[in-house]
Amino acid sequence: MYDPKSLKAEEFISHEEILETLDYAKKNKDNVELIDQIIAKARLAKGLTHREASVLLACDIPEKIQEIYDLAEQIKKDFYGSRIVMFAPLYLSNYCVNGCTYCPYHLKNKHIARKKLSLEEVEKEVIALQDMGHKRLAIEAGEDPVNNPIEYILDCVKTIYSIKHKNGAIRRVNINIAATTVENYRKLKEAEIGTYILFQETYHKESYEKLHPTGPKHDYSYHTEAMDRAMEGGIDDVGLGVLFGLELYQYEFAGLLMHAEHLEAVHGVGPHTISVPRIKKADDIDPDAFDNGIDDEIFAKLCALIRISVPYTGMIVSTRESQKVREQVIRLGVSQISGGSRTSVGGYQEDIRPTDTEQFDVSDQRSLDEVVHWLMDMGYIPSFCTACYREGRTGDRFMSLCKSGQIQNCCQPNALMTLKEYLMDYASEDTRKVGEALIAAELNHIPKEKVRLICEDHLQKIENGIRDFRF
Ligand code: SF4
Ligand code: SF4
Repeated sequence: MYDPKSLKAEEFISHEEILETLDYAKKNKDNVELIDQIIAKARLAKGLTHREASVLLACDIPEKIQEIYDLAEQIKKDFYGSRIVMFAPLYLSNYCVNGCTYCPYHLKNKHIARKKLSLEEVEKEVIALQDMGHKRLAIEAGEDPVNNPIEYILDCVKTIYSIKHKNGAIRRVNINIAATTVENYRKLKEAEIGTYILFQETYHKESYEKLHPTGPKHDYSYHTEAMDRAMEGGIDDVGLGVLFGLELYQYEFAGLLMHAEHLEAVHGVGPHTISVPRIKKADDIDPDAFDNGIDDEIFAKLCALIRISVPYTGMIVSTRESQKVREQVIRLGVSQISGGSRTSVGGYQEDIRPTDTEQFDVSDQRSLDEVVHWLMDMGYIPSFCTACYREGRTGDRFMSLCKSGQIQNCCQPNALMTLKEYLMDYASEDTRKVGEALIAAELNHIPKEKVRLICEDHLQKIENGIRDFRF
């Protein structure tokens, strides 16, 4: 039985409810009156239910789709301005005991090189990332209780935070590791991680079990209920995501929103972020072997609908996507992107991008400087801000600031100050010139005068060599 407040996976992600939702969406896909009502509700920027959003996903009336895109763009502007938060993944280890059929790190892949970074290697990777200008990382590791126990992850987090190379610092470490126990989540919280990210991969239980034939990840309930355990362990910023291409996208979309509704219903706070990866080519993985691949058009529609369905949730797109696709989805709602990424273990220390331990093919292979320049050319402000969790603005506190719009008084000045740091310490000459002009123009968009004056003062201090200001 469907119950968003239940703590049982099969009840808050009810298969029957998803099937009924898809049926309802199909029946109403041409119901213009209902579609108009749903779009009107979305305009209030308070979000949509999984049923409402599914009707819009099923709708293929061109004018209505255009209205959805325009609204997504508007909501994106209202909530996130022109800021795009930057991050990079850091692969710690590709040892893994699971049998995921879409990932080259699966246990049965005997020819991929297995690597695990020592703490000295972590330090080298972090220095390389700091020298690029990164301040925010998402660490990734396969599930392996012997090679990658929680103590190893915690040691890595501690090491990452401890490294201060030149003016560099990693100020926020997000974690993307396997579902674990409340006790381990508590340890991660104590280690001051940012967001705990766990992709569901697919919400379809039967497919999930087939796609994860072996290993602890086979357990659908344990995996799907992980965010509740993370919340119980004190982590209130959690990141959801599905791997589009494994199952029918309509099913995944409804499941994803039901998961968000569940978190809100039980914990009073929805997901901090939603990631939208699509299955990609990798070592022994052929994306064409999966039947449910989605084209760029559907992908854009999904991004736009996520934006209007959960306006307060950040949306992340990685370098899995090409420059062209990233450009489109940034406009429609994505608020956070990676740049200059290496998806192999130990990849940042190498001059040439190594591919022997890559988790997936990187489509956007530009350097961070090129990505920053590109964003600014399009009128966006690349932001290296990590302020919120360092100021204790997490979970429901963060969400209430978001919902009242007050967060804008922090995001804009923080974006400008962290961009200034980037320009001073890491940017190429050309990027710096473009960036300085952008900062001068964007200062005027700080809503409160008092905040703008403080920000101007901090920008001057950054010019004089002082770092790490934040609101
Ligand atoms: S997706 Fe994660 S759990 Fe599955 S094989 Fe890859 S690294 Fe292991
Ligand atoms: S102020 Fe908070 S919400 Fe805004 S960009 Fe920084 S960390 Fe994100």
